[in-house]
Amino acid sequence: MSKVLVIGCGAVASVAIQKIAQNHEVFKEMIIASRTQSKCEDFAKKLNGPNIKVLSEHVDADHVENVVKLIEKYHPDIVVNVALPYQNIPIMEACIQTKTHYLDTACAEVKEKAGFEYGTQWIYHERFKKAGVMALLGSGFDPGVTSVFSMYAKKHYFDTIDTIDILDANGGDHGYPFATNFNPEINIREITLPGRYYEQGSWKVVPALSEKHVYELDGIGPKDMYLMYHEEIESLAKFIPEVKRIRFFMSFGESYLMHLRALQNVGMTSVKPINFKGQQIAPIEFLRAVLPEPASLGPRTKGKTNIGCIVSGTKHGEKKTYYVYNMCDHEAAYRETGSQAIAYTTGVPAMIGAALVVQGIWHGAGVFNMEEFDPDPFMDMLNKWGLPWNENFNPVLVD
Ligand code: NDP
Repeated sequence: MSKVLVIGCGAVASVAIQKIAQNHEVFKEMIIASRTQSKCEDFAKKLNGPNIKVLSEHVDADHVENVVKLIEKYHPDIVVNVALPYQNIPIMEACIQTKTHYLDTACAEVKEKAGFEYGTQWIYHERFKKAGVMALLGSGFDPGVTSVFSMYAKKHYFDTIDTIDILDANGGDHGYPFATNFNPEINIREITLPGRYYEQGSWKVVPALSEKHVYELDGIGPKDMYLMYHEEIESLAKFIPEVKRIRFFMSFGESYLMHLRALQNVGMTSVKPINFKGQQIAPIEFLRAVLPEPASLGPRTKGKTNIGCIVSGTKHGEKKTYYVYNMCDHEAAYRETGSQAIAYTTGVPAMIGAALVVQGIWHGAGVFNMEEFDPDPFMDMLNKWGLPWNENFNPVLVD
């Protein structure tokens, strides 16, 4: 029976926290810590009970010493980082110093420059190894489940994989002309980066949102899918060395793109601080403050998400294709957790990854990606904990 420290108490955290509380066969105690302690305390009051003890704390996780102090106060078995990618490095550092397992759901970033790559976290491998604990990177949906889906395909259906296309489509409608489904600042920084994909051992770059493919998705119909860079391309290319091409596509509606272009054109998405009335402020931080909180979209969002991987390759010398995906209903996610499907599809895998680590089912000392472990127990838990998956052995390929 394990003790978990959750850092962050936003949209994704709210689902992870509730799923941890539901999985009381594995977790017996949870400490929820964030900058705004009142949000943590609300969950602690709601979830504390005979099956699991839940406490709240305040922490500013930008500073290593604050996280070290908190870990030393409670001695958790694992720290689940569902704050923002800016906090990954300080929280990892604190986990090394206190010899505590670590998990996150997105690649580390620094505020001053949009962009991310796993190299900034992989360099901690030797130090985690020396501390005798594990850092599990990217245990959300994408990255996370998409990496596990790809490894499941490799384990069960392919001798060699040639291509992987990751499709992340949201058929949900929240009724706002422009809002983001997870943290607006992180979301917009990611979407406005140039599109990058992996082909024949090198990276191809295209202008942001310049390559569109229409794809018909189960449960949500045809969607405009745009080629983007995503961190699991980097880890999949590392752990499936024979792969020839990996691409990532995300769906965007016309209204979203029209607003995004206008905001970009007037400089509102810039991460470079400007002087405003004597204060240094990055336009994107201001934009974040005026956009709806992702957590507030829950009661308004209808429709489904569909996220999965289309894999091609060979088995016993024969060409094969395979598609594995999950569909998640926004309203069902809201009924269960008070959050829409984007937070749900990220929070559930965060709990699953943490459960596999603390039970020693996924084990090792060092920094690891999802691709490095047996996908089967994770796939079983997806079915059990609210994210069942479907298979298609004859999918239409993305052109
Ligand atoms: P939110 O903005 O809703 O929540 C972020 C939380 O982090 C808030 O509770 C915030 O506290 C807290 N926080 C921010 N800074 C600090 C700090 N310095 N110290 C402590 N707590 C802090 O974000 P989301 O829930 O939408 O996203 C959470 C994470 O999930 C992000 O890293 C995001 O990239 C990732 N993600 C991953 C996905 C995947 O599929 N892999 C998909 C979607 C998101 P406060 O409110 O007090 O500021």
